[in-house]
Amino acid sequence: MGFGRPPQDFFVKSLPEGVIVPGLVNAHTHLELSVLNKKIPEGCGLAGMAEAISSERTLLSSATARRAAIEQIANAFQEGTWFYNDISNNAEFTGFLRSVPEFTGNRFLELLGFQSPNDEQRMQIGKELIESDHEVILTPHSVYGSSPAIMRFVNEYKRRSLLSIHLLESMEEHDLPHERGEIWEFLKKIGQAYRHTEIRQKNLLEYLYLQGIFSYKKLLLVHLSSAYPSEIDYLSEVVPHAAWVLCQRSNEHLHIQRKNWQALLNSPLTMLIGTDSAATSPDVSVLKEMYQILKQGQVSESRIWQAATFSAYDYLEISQSHVPYFLYPEARPTLESIASHAKAIILRG
Ligand SMILES: [Zn+2]
Repeated sequence: MGFGRPPQDFFVKSLPEGVIVPGLVNAHTHLELSVLNKKIPEGCGLAGMAEAISSERTLLSSATARRAAIEQIANAFQEGTWFYNDISNNAEFTGFLRSVPEFTGNRFLELLGFQSPNDEQRMQIGKELIESDHEVILTPHSVYGSSPAIMRFVNEYKRRSLLSIHLLESMEEHDLPHERGEIWEFLKKIGQAYRHTEIRQKNLLEYLYLQGIFSYKKLLLVHLSSAYPSEIDYLSEVVPHAAWVLCQRSNEHLHIQRKNWQALLNSPLTMLIGTDSAATSPDVSVLKEMYQILKQGQVSESRIWQAATFSAYDYLEISQSHVPYFLYPEARPTLESIASHAKAIILRG
């Protein structure tokens, strides 16, 4: 797309005609859930998804799950996706990813547990892992998935001042401080509906602020699909340096409808693109995600390219000298054409 300097190979090799694009960044996924591809019912909502995932927990630690993740990475790579922010719930899986040569990216260990002793167990696992793995980053899941103690813990053990959190993905999240609604009912069902005084009757964003979650230099706010304009104003004021990670196909799969496009696009937040997992999205290819966003008619094509490439390199501090380039043979320089000629030839930068 004419971004940046051309790769060296460009001058010395005879290449087919096509379009050259720098590697795409998937700013949010869970590769460990790849094995659940096509297993989460459409329109099941957030609580339905959480339920479906927890019923498959044993499958997630299997060799099949690891093969499924490698397959997703390989397929997305052919379509130009090269760098990931991977969020794993399982310390073994994140250790496994470290050994996968095809994987490039940040590895986060998500500490899931809303009530003790679950949250304490997860914090202990996190503590042990960061001692042996110097790259893994501890992170909370969401306001309803991680207790206030976990929020404070990840803040205390922060690494690279980088944090990723699912935030305001669905309207039901607003009901959490009032201890009602679908998410609260789901927490009750799994024995995790603890009445935290830190959260009760509070505004969720103020709660996160008080736990130190907004003190990070790099803050990945995943989804914000159900954030009200007043909440976007609050974030614009308090954390204008945060990034908003859009996972359009996953939202659509769960029938979550975004009404705040323009408020977010006009805010100072940096837009990045993720796929969420291949459980709620057909795959982890950012190119497919970009095309789906384009089809909404809300975001310009140039801004979508920016979000998947240079904004992401800047935000995630990825050195541009490490970025590979991909040639899409026979494609014309439009997202629609590139997405339809998705099999790329890799050209190292
Ligand atoms: Zn996610």
